Amino acid sequence: MKLKKKSLKDLLTFYKEVSTISQIEGLIGWDLNVNLPPEAATTRAQHSAFLTKLSAEKWKDEKISNLLKNAETDAATLEEKAIVRNLKKAAKYYTQVPEEIIVKFSKVTSEAFMAWNKAKQDSRYSDFEPFLKEIIEINKIIAKHLGYKNDPYDALLDLYEPGLTAKQCRKYFKELQPTLSNLVNKITKSKNYPKALPFIGPNYYYPPEDQKQLSLFALRKIGYDLQAGRLDPSPHPFTISLGFGDVRVTTKYTESDFRDALTSTIHEGGHALYEQGVDENYVATPLEGGVSLGIHESQSRFWENQVGRNRSFLKFLMPVLQTLYSTQLGSADLDQIELLFNYVKPGFIRIEADEVTYTLHIILRFELEHALINGELSTKDLPRAWNEKMKKYLGIVPPSDDLGVLQDVHWAYGSFGYFPTYSLGNLYAAQFTHAMSKEIDIQKALDEANFAVILSWWRENVHKYGSLYYPNELINRVTGEELSTKYYLSYITKKFKGIYKI
Ligand code: MG
Repeated sequence: MKLKKKSLKDLLTFYKEVSTISQIEGLIGWDLNVNLPPEAATTRAQHSAFLTKLSAEKWKDEKISNLLKNAETDAATLEEKAIVRNLKKAAKYYTQVPEEIIVKFSKVTSEAFMAWNKAKQDSRYSDFEPFLKEIIEINKIIAKHLGYKNDPYDALLDLYEPGLTAKQCRKYFKELQPTLSNLVNKITKSKNYPKALPFIGPNYYYPPEDQKQLSLFALRKIGYDLQAGRLDPSPHPFTISLGFGDVRVTTKYTESDFRDALTSTIHEGGHALYEQGVDENYVATPLEGGVSLGIHESQSRFWENQVGRNRSFLKFLMPVLQTLYSTQLGSADLDQIELLFNYVKPGFIRIEADEVTYTLHIILRFELEHALINGELSTKDLPRAWNEKMKKYLGIVPPSDDLGVLQDVHWAYGSFGYFPTYSLGNLYAAQFTHAMSKEIDIQKALDEANFAVILSWWRENVHKYGSLYYPNELINRVTGEELSTKYYLSYITKKFKGIYKI
């Protein structure tokens, strides 16, 4: 990218340094999850801590705040202004939150992660509670330093989804919850609702090597560039961008259920397509990656749910499935496979939830963490509040903490304000898709397995911009309106009423 003003050129030079550090951090993080020998954990933690410190020092350098001030005056074009805005936002955390708080937070969360792991294994929340209490107190302090108008939770949300507020979340969730709960009820009480599913479970074996072939097939088919990325197994699937030409995805092979790896690979593939599709002019600038977690999740969920779990896609996939798994799936028909990928059932675990119940898990977490940050709920009372909300929204109560309040790692990592972005992704995806449908015949593209036409729409309307537009600007630009729940509600209702014939 060509920039004329010296302040902006210098700023870009600084960005290249910090982004190189963070890409190296990313690479050793990828290695930690994919390859690390068990004995190497301590050494690796030292590498990671060294790089974090190095990068914090660079961000805190007074020269950078002066440079940012000058660049802000000098920025004239849309791109220059976005570069300054993105770097100012990134610097805010390091300049406004005192160093001792950042260090303390990092120490407490690494201890909390280990405590959480153990507490989850033992299913004993009380062992994790003191750590959680401290993490919440530090989060409140961080929110105070970052600044907010009405609600400390807003300062935390803004770290993950620029501009998002608790008030907006409450509005979206109030609109979503009754329809979703009602839909779950109707589905599970419908005439043909199956109590159990065929083709999966302890009597079935799907060799990981076959699942890998299927995952690679799906990735290629949706347009992921394997020359600029790779697929590996890891305990928790993720996507990581390590700079130009290197966007990696991971997946997890469950031997008794062939769906897990396929859907999570397509999900991560959606994240990766976004990163691989950013304008090449933005490489090595603060515009080079996806703009927010919510927009990122719109991409992963679009490919996972609206493509991967779509009847036409599954029809296209049937011959591949039945060749690869001839003994396991040889007798399956399309209706059974469609139901298998779209089975709705209230469960305890968020990451195993279907498309309809998923958002209800998020609403529960949002309400609880908002109350914790605002001092309306104590960590002592959290498991009770968790179970009450499970009963209210999903009609079931977890029998133990590991299936309830201890299931997610987010709070142990110190991440408050992260969960809502998962649901936002669904809303963005449905609203973008509505705009897409005015320009291309999506059903026809799916029927013909012509994913290139769909990908090129995303490239042109979302991917290429990287972090140029903030999420609210992007959704307005592409769809002509503010983010709304109506497109998602209409998508989900129509899809599942169709599948369950209600
Ligand atoms: Mg994701």
